[in-house]
Amino acid sequence: MRIVLLGAPGSGKGTQSQLLIKAYGVPQISTGDLLREAVARGTELGVRAKAVMDAGKLVDDSIVLGMIRERLAQPDAARGFILDGFPRNIAQAEALQKLLGELGAPLEAVVLMDIEMDVLFKRLTGRRICQDSGRVFNVFTSPPGSPPHCARCNDMPRLLQRPDDREEVIGKRLEVYEAQTKPLVDYYRAAGLLRIVAADADVQTVFDNLCRAVGAPPAAQ
Ligand code: AMP
Repeated sequence: MRIVLLGAPGSGKGTQSQLLIKAYGVPQISTGDLLREAVARGTELGVRAKAVMDAGKLVDDSIVLGMIRERLAQPDAARGFILDGFPRNIAQAEALQKLLGELGAPLEAVVLMDIEMDVLFKRLTGRRICQDSGRVFNVFTSPPGSPPHCARCNDMPRLLQRPDDREEVIGKRLEVYEAQTKPLVDYYRAAGLLRIVAADADVQTVFDNLCRAVGAPPAAQ
C-alpha cells in the first residue's frame, strides 16, 4: 500500500492512518508528527519550525522534503506507507513524484477525506490528545470515557491541546489548506490517482469506505 491521505486539518487523516497501520502493518508518515517530534526534542530545525507551526502556516518545503526523503529511506517504508499531511502544495507533490520515481515505488492512490468546513472547526477546537497514549479525543464528540476503555489511564487521560488547535490559529490553517493544499485535488485527479471518501461519517464507516477506495483486501481488516 502506497497512498496519500489528503484532506483539511481535522478531516480524520491521523485517526484513519492509525486504523490502516493496525490492519495492514504499513507505517504512517506524518510530516506534522515528525515536525512536532523535532519541536519536542528542541533541535535547531524544531526551534525554527515551531513559530511557523504555531501561526498555522506551512514550514519550508526544503525542511519537509528533507524529512520525507530520510523517512522513506528507512527499511519499514519498503513495505509501503501512508503519507499523512504531505504533500501540502504542488511543489511538494512534484518533488514526491520525483523521489518515488527514483525509489521505483510510485503512488497507488490519493484519498481525499472530504468534509465540510463548519464540521472541521468543531473537530479542531474540541480536539485533545492524551499525553501518555497519544490517543485523540474530542471534548464534543468523543470525550474521555468514550470506548474503547483505556486500562493505562483508567479513562482519566492527561489531555493536551495542540497549540495550533487554538481557535485563533484554526482559521489560518483552514485558509492555508484552501489556498495551497486544495489544488492538489485537481492535480491528482488529472494523474488518475484521486479517490474521494466522505469523512463526516463515523470512524468505522469512513475506514470501510477508505479500504474499498484504495482496493485494500477486506480479509486483512
Ligand atoms: P498537521 O499535524 O499535519 O496538521 O501539521 C501541523 C503543522 O505542521 C502544519 O500546520 C504546518 O505548520 C506543519 N506541516 C505539517 N506538514 C507539512 C508539510 N507537508 N509542509 C509544510 N508544513 C507542514
